[in-house]
Amino acid sequence: MLQTKGYAAQTVESDLAPWNFERRDVGPKDVHIEILFCGVCHSDLHQIKNDWFPGIFPMVPGHEIVGRVVRTGSDVKKFKKGELAGVGCLVDSCRICENCKQGLEQYCLNGSVATYNGRAKDGSPTYGGYSNQIVVHEDFVLHISEKLPLSAVAPLLCAGITTYSPLRFWKVGKGHKLAVLGLGGLGHMAVKFGVAFGAEVTVLSTSPSKEKDAKALGAHKFVVTTDSKQVAAVKGTFNFILDTVSAKHDMSFYLSLLATNGIHICVGAPPEPHLIPAFALMGGRKSVSGSGIGGLPETQEMLDYCADNNIVSDIEIIDIKYIQKAYERMVRGDVHYRFVIDMATL
Ligand code: NAP
Ligand code: ZN
Ligand code: ZN
Repeated sequence: MLQTKGYAAQTVESDLAPWNFERRDVGPKDVHIEILFCGVCHSDLHQIKNDWFPGIFPMVPGHEIVGRVVRTGSDVKKFKKGELAGVGCLVDSCRICENCKQGLEQYCLNGSVATYNGRAKDGSPTYGGYSNQIVVHEDFVLHISEKLPLSAVAPLLCAGITTYSPLRFWKVGKGHKLAVLGLGGLGHMAVKFGVAFGAEVTVLSTSPSKEKDAKALGAHKFVVTTDSKQVAAVKGTFNFILDTVSAKHDMSFYLSLLATNGIHICVGAPPEPHLIPAFALMGGRKSVSGSGIGGLPETQEMLDYCADNNIVSDIEIIDIKYIQKAYERMVRGDVHYRFVIDMATL
């Protein structure tokens, strides 16, 4: 077994604190990665708080993992020692169902294995990237370009693919008006991709202070959603709203901003179910959709696209001891625009 250092929440009430644990030895198809940076996703906070379902404790969060390969199993074909590597939200799936066969491992019909707060096929709990090393089957490890700053690549493994995938699925681009709802980790990546794909991008935000940043990220317009005048000017105008909001919000209000046939795509995952009156959809034949992370082939495609187009996350690098403060700031919407843990501080 591999003796591993990490940060864990021991129970749903406890703060994250140092914790040593064991990972499996490197099997024939496994890649052993020294973790250099790990992004901090709002999903980490949801999960240590049991917002979605009772979690598996102790919990080591983290699914935006980048680092260097330190060892490969005897049958590993895709990676070599010394190369950069990434791991996102998934570490395994059945590989034989219709979805897995199409590269949609995130929708595995037999249940994919989450990087943390999940159970491997042998029933053992999985532990995430707030740690110094990880062992993952090569099929679930991504190639990372040496061209981009590694710390700013980490958030692409979740925030990046979660926004890239629905924009690609719905072919959002030239001629579309895209609203990005919420300017946090996911939202700022959605702005970058929306602009890169040619859409007219408007940020819908509760934080007037983020306007300058939104424009610097490439957004064409910025609407403060608490300002009724600004809201009136965009009513009924968007073809798509990409909803990245992590907390309860009024769906009727946002649906009223969609144009006829508009699509509201949920990627944010608030703890409470949405209340969606039928009338909010009927007037204008509107749809509500959802999207979960992305499969392995599309995640690699997104990483390659980012390397080719010089796209990374805007980050604030933190010492792991700052993690509780980072969570507090995240809850207040004070993220610019992704915290990334420097694992050298572990
Ligand atoms: P984040 O960095 O905290 O960003 C969320 C943003 O939403 C905030 O910065 C804020 O932006 C806005 N917001 C927060 N509370 C709000 C409220 N009550 N009403 C309106 N806007 C509000 O979080 P994140 O890491 O981007 O994650 C966002 C959500 O996506 C989380 O629920 C996370 O679990 C989920 N997620 C889903 C997937 C998936 O596969 N679908 C993957 C990753 C994450 P403004 O200041 O601009 O208003
Ligand atoms: Zn995430
Ligand atoms: Zn499957």
